[in-house]
Amino acid sequence: MMENKLDGNAAAGTLQEIFPFEMTLAQATCAGCGATDVIGALAAYMHGMGTVIRCPSCDTVLIRVVQAKGRYWLDMRGVRVLQISVEA
Ligand SMILES: [Zn+2]
Repeated sequence: MMENKLDGNAAAGTLQEIFPFEMTLAQATCAGCGATDVIGALAAYMHGMGTVIRCPSCDTVLIRVVQAKGRYWLDMRGVRVLQISVEA
């Protein structure tokens, strides 16, 4: 299946349905290489099954979101630390 490579801002809509924070401004630390980037700057792949967000440095899958059967399936095993600003 073809994937569309976009930046993390493209995943904002999906993430906003799950998290009550501005997730594109949250910072994720990659479990693979330790790089920390705001989610809006990460590589996002949108396809029919859902959204995959990858580390731009080492290509580790950081976040995988699938919506199916009336629920979200959120796989965040590639994120070591998620920093969320409390300021709007
Ligand atoms: Zn990485």
